[in-house]
Amino acid sequence: MAYDPNNIFAKIIRGEAPCFKVYEDDHTLAFMDIMPQVEGHTLVIPKEGAESIFDLSPDGAAAMIKTTKKIAAAVQEVTKAPGILLAQLNGAAAGQTVFHIHVHVMPRYHGIDLKIHAAAKADFEKLKALGAKIAAAVK
Ligand code: AMP
Repeated sequence: MAYDPNNIFAKIIRGEAPCFKVYEDDHTLAFMDIMPQVEGHTLVIPKEGAESIFDLSPDGAAAMIKTTKKIAAAVQEVTKAPGILLAQLNGAAAGQTVFHIHVHVMPRYHGIDLKIHAAAKADFEKLKALGAKIAAAVK
C-alpha cells in the first residue's frame, strides 16, 4: 500500500489537525493518544512519511527510537508506573489502524490490564493536563 499523505498523523505533523503535543524536534513528534489504553498512553512518530517499519529509512528509525527513549522516561517519571510497554504495529493484520508509523508508549502495572485498542476517547481536559506534565518531564 502506498503511503497516504492525508492520514491523520500526517495532518498532525503539518498542523492541519490538533494534538496534545508532548515533544517535537526536527525529525519526530510525540503526543497523547486520544483513545488511551491506559493513562499516560503516548505516541511517538517520525516526521518522515512512512507507513510502517518496512518503508521507514534507517535514519528515521533511529530518530524515532531516540525520541521514544526520551518519552518513555518522561511517561514513567510522571505516572510512576513500574513498567513501560513499547508497541509498534505493522500492517492491519498486526492491528495497525493509522498508517503512519508510530510507537505506543504505555505505562503498565501488575494486575492491571490494558483497555481495548483505539476504542474510547479520553476526557480531553485531563489528557491536556497529563500531556503538559509529560512534556515538562522530557529531558
Ligand atoms: P495503531 O492501531 O497502532 O495504528 O494505533 C493508532 C493509535 O492512534 C490508536 O491507539 C488510536 O487511539 C490513536 N489515534 C487515532 N487518532 C488519533 C488522533 N487524532 N490523535 C491521537 N491519537 C490518535
